[in-house]
Amino acid sequence: MKSHYRVVVIGGGIVGASVLYHLARKGWSDIALIERAELTAGSTWHAAAGFHAINDDPHIAALQAYTIRLYQEIEGESGQSVGMHMPGGYSIATTPARWEWLQSEFAVYQTLGIDARLATPDEIVAECPIVDPAGLLGGLFDPHEGAVDPHGTTHAFAIAARTRGADVILRNRVLGLTSRADGHWIVDTEKGAVIAEHVVNAGGLWARRVGRMVGVDLPLTPMQHHYLITEDLPELLARRNEMPCVTDLEGFTYLQQERKGVILGVYERNPRHWKPEGADWDYGMELLPEDIERISPELLIGFSRFPTLAKAGIRKWVNGAFTFTPDGNPLVGPVPGVRNFWVACGCMGGFSQGGAIGRVLSDWMVEGDPGTDIFGMDVARYGAFASNDRYLRDTTAQFYARRFVIAYPNEELPAGRPLKTTPAFDSQRQLGARFGVVWGMESPQYFATGEPDFVDPPTLRRSAADRFVAAEVAATRAAAGLLDTGVYGRYEVRGPAAAAWLDHVLASRLPATGRMRLAPMLNPAGRLMGDLTVTKLDEGRYWLVGSYGLQEWHLRWFRDHLPASGVEIENLSESWLGFSLSGPHSRAILASLTNGDVSDRGLPFLGCARLNVGPTTAFVARLSLTGELGYEINVPALQQRALWHALLEAGTPLGMRPIGMRAQDSLRLEKGYGVWSLEFSTSVTPAMAGLQRFVALDKGDFIGRAAELAARAGDAPQRLVLLDIDSPDADATGYEPVHLDGQRIGYVTSGAYGHHVRRSLALAYVDTALSRTQDPLSVTIIGVPRSARILGAPPYDPAGSRLRG
Ligand SMILES: Cc1cc2nc3c(=O)[nH]c(=O)nc-3n(C[C@H](O)[C@H](O)[C@H](O)COP(=O)(O)OP(=O)(O)OC[C@H]3O[C@@H](n4cnc5c(N)ncnc54)[C@H](O)[C@@H]3O)c2cc1C
Repeated sequence: MKSHYRVVVIGGGIVGASVLYHLARKGWSDIALIERAELTAGSTWHAAAGFHAINDDPHIAALQAYTIRLYQEIEGESGQSVGMHMPGGYSIATTPARWEWLQSEFAVYQTLGIDARLATPDEIVAECPIVDPAGLLGGLFDPHEGAVDPHGTTHAFAIAARTRGADVILRNRVLGLTSRADGHWIVDTEKGAVIAEHVVNAGGLWARRVGRMVGVDLPLTPMQHHYLITEDLPELLARRNEMPCVTDLEGFTYLQQERKGVILGVYERNPRHWKPEGADWDYGMELLPEDIERISPELLIGFSRFPTLAKAGIRKWVNGAFTFTPDGNPLVGPVPGVRNFWVACGCMGGFSQGGAIGRVLSDWMVEGDPGTDIFGMDVARYGAFASNDRYLRDTTAQFYARRFVIAYPNEELPAGRPLKTTPAFDSQRQLGARFGVVWGMESPQYFATGEPDFVDPPTLRRSAADRFVAAEVAATRAAAGLLDTGVYGRYEVRGPAAAAWLDHVLASRLPATGRMRLAPMLNPAGRLMGDLTVTKLDEGRYWLVGSYGLQEWHLRWFRDHLPASGVEIENLSESWLGFSLSGPHSRAILASLTNGDVSDRGLPFLGCARLNVGPTTAFVARLSLTGELGYEINVPALQQRALWHALLEAGTPLGMRPIGMRAQDSLRLEKGYGVWSLEFSTSVTPAMAGLQRFVALDKGDFIGRAAELAARAGDAPQRLVLLDIDSPDADATGYEPVHLDGQRIGYVTSGAYGHHVRRSLALAYVDTALSRTQDPLSVTIIGVPRSARILGAPPYDPAGSRLRG
């Protein structure tokens, strides 16, 4: 062990070993992995080590495909066998709903470029003779499913890293971490202290404890997981080829061949946590006692789906622990607010994702950018609320128990809720609001007006709640709609250098005092980091408004780019709340509550003003996402309830209705407006997203300008277009493929029924050369191709005259 390293990676499981290897591969050889015991001593050694390419997040799916491709390379480079076998795998359907869902997923996988195919029951049984065909309706075959040897694979990464100059230090626990003034870490270990410029927490089962060494409580917790290994099965003894893996989605089990027997793993509906704070420091390579009674309901389903298992001898039971986060994705990247401290943990699929985590983290550390859109794994997608023990317990249990359960687009899951509510919550609930959740904040989706017992049955098709949504859309177009904007992120930026700094981080020009602008924010590669609005309140005082769920992510970016002095940023996202009031009567409603001038002259489009609105002291900005005349009325959080009641009282006689996010989606799609995480993300450029007109190349330098200039020399590969789809019963929800003459030319980002224009609408990225085609297209929704066409202009108010009031 040397006295100084550029990077110390804590933990020698599959993830830490991959991080070490990838850093070495990028040329950082002055690095070390410090492992408490032996390599693989955490979750890794007893993993079933199965892998697959399929994931609903396309970026994570691409990274999983990378992990799988890497196995052979790493075996070649290290000379260490990884024991890879890849017979492919079937996800099987035994209910009509599941079969329909698999067909719909298949279309999504086509979009993602995942090589999969649908299979008939006969095909499945021919290849997997131990499957009972009773009730089998079909399956989806992923050719990239298989397994590796966890020990060999971890060692292969470590050997290859060592060959490239990295140190691997075993039997040496990291005891503590102290930050120095220069940002470097003093890493205290059982064998003495070392200095590290960067520390990576790849502590797996202990990662929460390692986080606490730097005062960070990470949102992850270990849970138990069982599988069994059978003795040889006669059906497999007779075969030469390895049988494909089988996941029985209705049965909560997965199965893979192990020698001439099988591994049967269970995702039980009654899961158990284990050591919520992380394993004890002296926890060895031990198995947990098996709890067969608890998992027996799922085992029984497994034995009936694979009847031969009921007669087979069990060679071994394995009950081990690995870590889960609330959404089941890992925690990767620099921890907001802790300099030079990185995480690569919370990984439940180390053998599908470990290679990829190493790649993105090393890109991030060496190049300053993860190189691809990895928001779905970014540690900054969570805030402190997610590390609460009860929240973690409830959300991780929900994720585990629903691992194979269909997720419907109109379904809201209950765990960890309600946590954050705006002061109007109870009143909204009394009016029939049904809520969704963003970053722990309850947000009305629609109001089941007059039907207190209404329940929205989960469906892939148009939801039963659409009649409420239609009424909200109609009210907004004819009179006014009132939307709770508790799910906006709000920041005040102030100080003598505020303007210069904003000019540097935003790609737009800055507004004049009392005005606002739409402000794309770019990274150095010219890809979007935000679709903010910027408002100038006074000299040296601005507001930025973005997405509530991006708070930690945006604040990390802001802080990383702050000058030493002259700029202060205050996060107002939970201290200011408000409403969006929009519709032709919105001005009259607002005027009835204020003495301020809200005429087109007093408060023009994209203008803002401090106004008394009813009893509240508000900051009002004139814009809307509905395409109507509209106002965003922001107030200190404690006044939000008073504002709600004042607006209801003034607006109801004029036909105003409270509306939810589903109505907002319908309204915005009628105008073709994109939103963050669906149309806008770090994978797209302003040219692709149609935001180029908001980028001010002539204002001087700003982050991403050089890349944007270069991009303008060529053509963006894809462009965002609005589609009109002939679909009587279902709308696109995202990632449905778009075809022209049988060729896939793009994919949907979001869709909804336009209740006012009475059309099924969707936004989609399509190949630029075809983005103006008037030829008939097709969009595959729930497995069925539906005819579609590109709209040259939004179907509602294409001239934008209503928005400008
Ligand atoms: C029964 C079971 C079946 C599974 N099946 C699969 C499967 O089929 N496919 C799949 O992809 N995944 C599977 N998994 C999950 C998989 O095991 C994990 O995703 C993976 O092992 C996580 O690796 P890791 O490197 O993050 O953590 P770990 O393997 O837990 O490694 C963390 C390492 O950090 C070390 N460490 C911690 N703190 C310190 C410290 N202070 N100082 C020094 N060292 C420290 C530990 O000793 C440990 O070696 C399974 C897990 C179990 C338990």
